[in-house]
Amino acid sequence: MINKGLNRLFNNLNKATTTLNKHSLKLIFFVMMLVLSIGLTASCQNKAKRNSAMEKKENRVTEKIFKSDEEWKEILTDEQYRILREKGTERPGTGLYDQFFVKGRYYCAGCGLELFESGSKFDAGCGWPSFSIPADKKSIDENRDISYGMVRTEVVCSRCDGHLGHVFNDGPPPTGLRYCINSASLVFKSEEEIKKEENQSVK
Ligand SMILES: [Zn+2]
Repeated sequence: MINKGLNRLFNNLNKATTTLNKHSLKLIFFVMMLVLSIGLTASCQNKAKRNSAMEKKENRVTEKIFKSDEEWKEILTDEQYRILREKGTERPGTGLYDQFFVKGRYYCAGCGLELFESGSKFDAGCGWPSFSIPADKKSIDENRDISYGMVRTEVVCSRCDGHLGHVFNDGPPPTGLRYCINSASLVFKSEEEIKKEENQSVK
């Protein structure tokens, strides 16, 4: 009798343990899945954060500069204002950089963003400084221009929206492009000047 009773007790205990184990396993599995999904969500969020940080860094060149007409007039010459802010065009052959082939870089006269390098400058014979490629594609935006009965592609500084000129499809290889730019929209710095400035900023 005692043995039978003990056996029954053991059996019951075993059943209880098995049931408990099943429940425990389920619970452990559930907790693991929960932790895993939280981890995955967090890592996705971090990745998204990293991606948006990277995008911001990449787009840094196109962070816009906004100024009122009065503010622009204060920092630009009349000619620069007429061309950059009023989409004017300088008379061909009159610009400072038309027949100018010194090694260096060209910056936006409105905001100082680097736009072109002397290596891509060529004499198109059109009377305006011509470049086959921008220093960085992100520094130049394009707009469809249908003024004066023509369909042209206007190019503007991507940071201050200053009018630079137009881009045409009759440039030299490999791009086949001709960025026809007003000298007044540009400020040139020679390699020596750039080096000097870099040295000064290091000191
Ligand atoms: Zn600019």
